[in-house]
Amino acid sequence: MTLYRDSALVLRTWKLGESDRIVSMLGQESGKIRAVVKGVRKTKSRFGSRLEPLSLVSILCWKGRELDVVSQAETIELFRAIREDLDRLYKANIILEATEQIAQERFSEPELFKLVVRVLRILDTDNPQMLLGSFIWKLLALQGYRPQMTTCVICGSSNSKVGFDAAMGGVLCGEHANGRRVSSEALDVISKSLDGRLAQILKIENSPVVSETESLALRALESVLERNLRTVRSHIIRH
Ligand SMILES: [Zn+2]
Repeated sequence: MTLYRDSALVLRTWKLGESDRIVSMLGQESGKIRAVVKGVRKTKSRFGSRLEPLSLVSILCWKGRELDVVSQAETIELFRAIREDLDRLYKANIILEATEQIAQERFSEPELFKLVVRVLRILDTDNPQMLLGSFIWKLLALQGYRPQMTTCVICGSSNSKVGFDAAMGGVLCGEHANGRRVSSEALDVISKSLDGRLAQILKIENSPVVSETESLALRALESVLERNLRTVRSHIIRH
């Protein structure tokens, strides 16, 4: 078996048998990794507690055929401010779940790792309102999802862009928008997010465009994944 070292963000964990755990991580070089942590629930496990969701760790792993095996783990960053604030934690859980769903196993995506860690660092220090919405649009753009933003997806008209439908793949004109209305500010934010102009967008504060962009982004993500996100659904049920 080969041994490898990487920096990785823990996305999700599952119990495995009596005392082991499976950890899903996004490695800087390795892409999405699923690895077994042995004896994590025994008190003598030295590093098991470091492998909790939302921890950035330095790992040493044995490569396995299906699951790798974690040999060592050291904490790099814990994102403490996120863990202590329910609003930030909710956003972080969506970020982790979306990343876990969209990343392909053992497919190296250093750009994706860079984006997710950068966004979590911003959330940890600053929590700008537009962060979650713009992250999701950028995440989708990285995966090749490019909605048509300048002409109506049905008729090709560029006269009036008043609607948006994620599943149809872009903007809609006045004639074809029906109930799928969207503000021009939200369309502007989506375009800028897809282009990665994060710094510019993050200055937008507390306006209806924040929630509009966020819900359009979540709908687009769910249509790309063809499933609902657990985090979003459980949040809606709770409120
Ligand atoms: Zn049209």
